[in-house]
Amino acid sequence: MGAKLGKGSRFPWEVTLVWTASAIASVLLRDEGHAVLLLWLPSAVAVCALYRAKPAERLPVIAALVVANLIVNVWIGLSPLAVLGYTVANIVEPLLAVAIAYRVIGKRKLESLRLRDTVLLFVGVIFASFVAAVIALPFRPHQDWVQFVWWGFSTSLGTTVGAPILFFLRDWLARRRAGVRRAGEHSPVWFGISMLAMLALSWLVLGFHVVPLVPVVISALVLIVARYGQIGASVGVFMFGVAGTLRSVGGETPAAYLHFPPFEAGIALQMLMVLMMATSLPLAALLLDNDRLAMRLKARNARMRENLLMLNMAEEVGRIGRWHYNPRTGEQDWSRQMYLINGLDPTMGRDPGDLTTMLPDGGTELFGQLAHHSKDRARYSFEYHVMPPQGDERILRMYATNEFNEAGELTGMFGVVMDVTEHHQRQEALDRERTRAMRLAAEAQYLAHTDPLTGLANRRRTITQLQKCIRRSEQDGRPTALILFDIDHFKRVNDTSGHQMGDDVLVRIADIARGQARASDLIGRIGGEEFVWILPGAGLEETRNAAERLRYAIEQESAQGGLPQVTASVGYTMWREGDDANSLLARVDAALYDAKEAGRNNVQQAA
Ligand code: GH3
Ligand code: MG
Ligand code: MG
Repeated sequence: MGAKLGKGSRFPWEVTLVWTASAIASVLLRDEGHAVLLLWLPSAVAVCALYRAKPAERLPVIAALVVANLIVNVWIGLSPLAVLGYTVANIVEPLLAVAIAYRVIGKRKLESLRLRDTVLLFVGVIFASFVAAVIALPFRPHQDWVQFVWWGFSTSLGTTVGAPILFFLRDWLARRRAGVRRAGEHSPVWFGISMLAMLALSWLVLGFHVVPLVPVVISALVLIVARYGQIGASVGVFMFGVAGTLRSVGGETPAAYLHFPPFEAGIALQMLMVLMMATSLPLAALLLDNDRLAMRLKARNARMRENLLMLNMAEEVGRIGRWHYNPRTGEQDWSRQMYLINGLDPTMGRDPGDLTTMLPDGGTELFGQLAHHSKDRARYSFEYHVMPPQGDERILRMYATNEFNEAGELTGMFGVVMDVTEHHQRQEALDRERTRAMRLAAEAQYLAHTDPLTGLANRRRTITQLQKCIRRSEQDGRPTALILFDIDHFKRVNDTSGHQMGDDVLVRIADIARGQARASDLIGRIGGEEFVWILPGAGLEETRNAAERLRYAIEQESAQGGLPQVTASVGYTMWREGDDANSLLARVDAALYDAKEAGRNNVQQAA
């Protein structure tokens, strides 16, 4: 039955050959062996061939069946009309059976038929067989019910028993050729032994004439079905049919316990076989359903086990602890990693019991948070501290959700927990580093702009500030005043009191000047003992007063002692349209020069 694709396929020829051979063998057994033929196997060949034929092969297969029918029926010596009638019956039967099978099975696989499919197929085949029996009846030697029933039974048994065997054989051979062994496939040797045992048992039962021992055969069939399923049912019943046929060879009765003529006893056996099929096929389908269910369950369990394994692995790798709490019973369920994160022994079980001893605050934080969130419908998260029996205090972060029942009562809390101690430590170290870096940067900035001795702005900063004030005055016309002062005869201080005392004087002078300045002013040290005082927004009068105050303050301070007697000469000027920092400084420097010229310790306005 190895069909090939397309034109020139050998398949139709094979069908003709197999159908003709099986029909001739059956007829010879019947006519020459005087046997009662319990099943007509050619109908199985026809049904299988049509069912397996690809759409393009259907017509050739029908033609092949017609040819085979003509050959066999002519060979038997039927009248031309009977040849026609039998042929039509033998073609209508598989066509009808296959049409029903296609409707029932659809695209499903034959091996996985369900209970409903099996029952429908069985009924469909019997229906098709009896339709054929009706068509054939007018051409039979006698038009009685025995002829009719015999045709119907032997063809439907041929199909229901034979077709599964043919399909199975074809698949089994294909699998053997491909070297594939299906999981759970039974050993062919034991299958063969079981079937031979069934044959022997049937032979014995059918030969026993005192009482009918048929229930023994049926029990054996049930065992076979339980072990081998649908194919067991078909081959088992087939063995029974073979035994009956063999018993009847030579005109004997096929069943010794039936006290009818052989042919009528044959019909009784056929009815029994139909019943055997009718019970064992659904049984096999049920068992198969059961098997499939068990297999699905097994597969699902395996998948679940795998998922669980993956989950555990993910938890181990990610160091994530899992925790569940039942607020009604107070029971907890901890995962392995949860124990490890808490510094506990994971072999303790699933419930670590009372935690308060290992919570540094006795649980205020953790239980407080859980209580606080106990009505939350969305995920929540918080951190808490634990104190493992060994090791240091750890910070854990919990992500949790609540479970509620339909009444809205809290029935469970589920959480995952991560150790964030190191994260915190890293964060703190990072914060410390950032603060330090910021301080250093600020220091560098300060140093870059500050005179280290007096803490006043250095020359660069002072010039920059002056330029800024000039720009502002250019924009809004508000005045900018500039004061320049220089310590008188400072060289003498150094010479008589030493350089260190000179420095102290500089610091003191800087402080005095700072004490005179407003918050918006800037005082800078731009040379050795030369200082600049910028007064943004100050008018001429105000500036003059400021300069005079400064001069006087220096004079007064020195008079109070502690420091050598020093005075300062002061020049001042106002920003004018067109002035830049250089021209302004040059003008105020000229004013300072005037002050020195005028005898020092006095204030001069620039010309
Ligand atoms: P006058 O300004 O009244 O003309 O006389 P002077 O003695 O102050 O003359 P001048 O401005 O030329 O001298 C500046 C002196 O200031 C020179 C130097 O010895 C001294 N000096 C400059 N920078 C420092 C410093 O940072 N510390 C000390 N101790 N002395 C300094
Ligand atoms: Mg000086
Ligand atoms: Mg000077």
